[in-house]
Amino acid sequence: MTEARPVNFGAGPSALPESVLEEACKGLFNFKGTGIGVAEISHRSKEFTSLVADLEDNIRTQLGVPPTHKIIFTQGGGTGQFSAVVLNLLARHRLLHPDLSDEQRVLDYVITGSWSKKAMEEAKRLGGGSVHIAVDARAKSKDSKSFDNIPAHEDFDFSADPALIYYCENETVDGVQFSDDVQSPASFPFHLLPAGGLWPLVADYSSSFMSRKIPRIADHAVIFAGAQKNIGPAGLTILIVRQDCIVDVDAAAKLGAVPVPITMSYKTNADAGSLYNTPSTLSIYIAGLVLERSKKLGGVEYFESVNGRKAQKVYTALQEGEAKGVYRSKVKEGSGSWMNVVFDVLGDNAESKFLAGAEALGMKALKGHRSVGGIRISLYNAITEEQTDRIVEYLKDFPTQTS
Ligand code: PLP
Repeated sequence: MTEARPVNFGAGPSALPESVLEEACKGLFNFKGTGIGVAEISHRSKEFTSLVADLEDNIRTQLGVPPTHKIIFTQGGGTGQFSAVVLNLLARHRLLHPDLSDEQRVLDYVITGSWSKKAMEEAKRLGGGSVHIAVDARAKSKDSKSFDNIPAHEDFDFSADPALIYYCENETVDGVQFSDDVQSPASFPFHLLPAGGLWPLVADYSSSFMSRKIPRIADHAVIFAGAQKNIGPAGLTILIVRQDCIVDVDAAAKLGAVPVPITMSYKTNADAGSLYNTPSTLSIYIAGLVLERSKKLGGVEYFESVNGRKAQKVYTALQEGEAKGVYRSKVKEGSGSWMNVVFDVLGDNAESKFLAGAEALGMKALKGHRSVGGIRISLYNAITEEQTDRIVEYLKDFPTQTS
């Protein structure tokens, strides 16, 4: 790229590394020397199937996914998984406990923001089980209605033998994230899970996947992520599923479980090596390029240290501005996300001035989600430290610009 592009701090779809975009342009015309573009080649060609295998290998090695878990690629995004996890794990529960009533099949939801709330609403809509709110962060928020904190461990209340325990690791809209340090009070309370192991623990990692290591990865039943934040373009959904959760959904339906649409069945997708039907080929290709680059840079450990520094710099500048009465964080200290930093700019028309000033300096897509307003700085893997320094400098300079 010859022309300097603006820095895109958008929350997703979001920036991709320029070297990847350049490489992808070549692949659009000529994929792996075939002379056929990647968007034109058969998904069953040996060139494409080897790409799928490499992508899987890159995720497995960089994240340390254990052999107990399969990696599946599908479509439908995070929202598709709000439905799929319920259907597949209710089928599993039905096979394990055929005699229970729907009322007795409990689905535990941890509500820390807009996305986990949406997932819970989908579980209620689908039926086949009864939803139990294990904790709702709004109970301890500053105004009893916003999602501004990770609840204290003593506030969680898990059921004894749930069909599913659901949480969203990083709430993209509200800027709240569980800590990756399992000793931290803001970590997910793994130690409170019901005894017995093989927990049906489900985590939505859509906006933090590959940004740092996943704590207690082996203890999860399902981890899912849409690609369009850290990995590539929209269209690809990545699943890490423990093998006991890949069940015969048709056998479960015969026992009374809700039937599972074929494209949502984990078993169908796993048995077909993620190629039951035509996958999102272009998105898989670009995700492959992103993760090859990530491997060369040092894998998820590299991004963990860079992303930690980036977040630290932005939160420090925000705190300094807060002390001067320029900004107000939307999130309680200790619960802030590394990926999405959300805050208000105080003063008349100050938010519009902030956005216009940033735009004039070539920094875009900083407006908060329409449901919460304010500013949101998304710091996904493709945002470099140098680009972060630019927004940090702007955060520090902004007060003098308005005075
Ligand atoms: N979960 C999280 C944490 C998200 O950030 C999003 C989208 O931004 C979703 C789920 C929904 O993803 P999709 O739009 O791919 O369905």
